[in-house]
Amino acid sequence: MDPHGEPGAHPVGPLEQALHAARALVLADLVAREVAEADVVSMVEDSVSHRRWWVEQWPDGAGFLPGLVAQDVQDALLERYGRWPLCPVCPTGDPHALEVEPELGPDPHWVCHKAGVKVAAVGGLAGAAPS
Ligand SMILES: [Zn+2]
Repeated sequence: MDPHGEPGAHPVGPLEQALHAARALVLADLVAREVAEADVVSMVEDSVSHRRWWVEQWPDGAGFLPGLVAQDVQDALLERYGRWPLCPVCPTGDPHALEVEPELGPDPHWVCHKAGVKVAAVGGLAGAAPS
């Protein structure tokens, strides 16, 4: 429960803004990869509510939220759907997923470890997709 006032009267603070931004970035990447279905969106919501608690304990980590939410969703998708997001830069070889770097830091990127390249910023997969 929220001890600070009534539901709906809660001011939007910087942490809530950071959570909203992280949610929007990861959703943009999901849309870019055409997996933004209802249950996938709920995975993002689950991550955001979990990370809301996390960032309230550690407000300095607000800048890390996009990378953390991206990794949460990636893990959840791996269990239910498989690898995401698939690497768009390697023309041959086994399909493999991109990874978030840094795992815990600001300005996270999707990286292909096989090719050793930064593919896109988290939230920027649409611009990197050759599709
Ligand atoms: Zn690759």
